[in-house]
Amino acid sequence: MILRLDRLAVDLPKPKNPSPNDAAAVQELLGGKFGEMSTLMNYTFQSFNFRGREAYRPYYDLIANIAAEEFGHIEAVTYTINMLLTGTTPRGDDPTTAPLQDAANWRNTYHTIATGQQAYCGDSMGNFWTGQNVFSSGNLKLDLLHNFFLEVGARANKIRVYEMTKDPCARAMLGYLLVRGGVHVVAYAKALEKLSGVAVGGLLPIPDISNKRFPEARKHEDKGLHRILYRFSPDDYRKIVEVWNGPHPEDGQPLEVQDGPPEGFKPPDLEEEPQLTAPGGPDDGPDPAMLKEYADRIFGTSAKVSMNAGAPKKVPAKKR
Ligand code: MN
Ligand code: MN
Repeated sequence: MILRLDRLAVDLPKPKNPSPNDAAAVQELLGGKFGEMSTLMNYTFQSFNFRGREAYRPYYDLIANIAAEEFGHIEAVTYTINMLLTGTTPRGDDPTTAPLQDAANWRNTYHTIATGQQAYCGDSMGNFWTGQNVFSSGNLKLDLLHNFFLEVGARANKIRVYEMTKDPCARAMLGYLLVRGGVHVVAYAKALEKLSGVAVGGLLPIPDISNKRFPEARKHEDKGLHRILYRFSPDDYRKIVEVWNGPHPEDGQPLEVQDGPPEGFKPPDLEEEPQLTAPGGPDDGPDPAMLKEYADRIFGTSAKVSMNAGAPKKVPAKKR
């Protein structure tokens, strides 16, 4: 079972320039082959499918525990996309334009047509995430190798998205996840080392650039976040400490298990996007006749219902 906390793992600043194309790029980190949906679901299914749990308890604990952290990562990436999409459509009632006219030129129109300027469970090119991205072979060494590859592939994608956007919101998320993904890279490398004796950590970093080169990642590493593995459970997964120990392969600092999740931050309250339900523009609101009909069905025909019920907040109209 999962215990859920209404906290966001990383503090996300408001985007400087909300951008649907930046949001589209970030989608890859959510629902792409190497995105957070893939890490979450791979480790989740591998832990459910694990045979020989008692014999290989430290590896089971590691995979199951990292799965729990990945839930918070899909949340952080999703909020980033939502914040990058907030305010990207005009909020006036200019009769010469359609409310969502600009969105017709966005690279990704699912962000308006299929959603309410929201993230969707798919990649940067509009392909929906699929269970075919889940690898669970029943062979522990093979699954750990896969997970190591998945985490370094995810790292490569994050670095490329970092190079596609200068937005502080996107880069705050990227910096944090480069560090946390880096922990998972090292965790799977350590697991393979314990299982096989091969010094997998010697391959790192992949790609060949240190997290310390990214200011938004370095600030977390300066606080030691790259050497902390959170134990996401009140009582369980205690044997992760048998894998997560010794020196960090890149800077030699001691690895440490921290009991409990990170403290996190209050999730941002996403503003309404009123034009999404108002065909004629944001001031029109929902059709009063339609609202009356629904109210009659729910409360009976005698009900008195304000025609403004549920209407979006008024925004200052542009001069015509
Ligand atoms: Mn992750
Ligand atoms: Mn990860």
